[in-house]
Amino acid sequence: MREKIVIGNWKMNTSISEAKQLVEELNKANKNNTKTAVLVPSLYINALQNLANKSIHIGAQNVSSFEKGAFTGEISAAMLNSMQVEYVAIGHSERRTIFNETDNIISEKIKISLENNLKPILCCGEALEVRKAGDFLDFVGKQIDFVLEKITANDMKNIIIAYEPIWAIGTGETASAAQAQEVHIYIRNIVKKHFGNEIADKTTILYGGSVKPSNAAELFAEQDIDGALVGGASLNAQSFIDIINANNG
Ligand code: PEP
Repeated sequence: MREKIVIGNWKMNTSISEAKQLVEELNKANKNNTKTAVLVPSLYINALQNLANKSIHIGAQNVSSFEKGAFTGEISAAMLNSMQVEYVAIGHSERRTIFNETDNIISEKIKISLENNLKPILCCGEALEVRKAGDFLDFVGKQIDFVLEKITANDMKNIIIAYEPIWAIGTGETASAAQAQEVHIYIRNIVKKHFGNEIADKTTILYGGSVKPSNAAELFAEQDIDGALVGGASLNAQSFIDIINANNG
């Protein structure tokens, strides 16, 4: 009923030759043509689009909140759209914490991405202190509410949400399937509160945080986990393919 997808986030990794090799391996391995995406360094988008088969979508890891003009070093939503990019990650915890992106900036990025026909992957998730204090549902809820109260039901159809607890990103520690499911259903209920049942049921909600071939199937077995946003394990073609296959098994 809703789209399942596994998305790789390469972050600031790979040389161009390593990136090309990874896409070639994904082309060969993705025999059942399962839809997937990889968020690559922007510099490589064009070269990798020319290599990837049609089931592998080449996406971006970031986009400017500004439209155009004197913003040295930025890449605009219109530029990504003009390159036929479909997916862009917005609000990743590394952008929020290292680059000081606020909910306001994230909301602006979502807005401008939607205006330029991109599909934002809205990332949310709590730090370890918040989890330990027991406030994580409220914390994640506020991150999602902040964005959803400024968009329309039609916009929501083009957004993927990724729940990524910060304590599980790159740490090797994964949320248990039950811990992830608890937050996913909470997020789906927030979508329902804003836009109703039908749109909530159709919203793809991904889990991210140390997803590996060994834990993917258990996570994907949960009712409200529709795939994964994968960092480290997406840099190895075989691991990434095993995770994709687990989502369709
Ligand atoms: C991420 O950064 O989006 C991520 C989920 O990383 P990892 O899979 O390495 O924890």
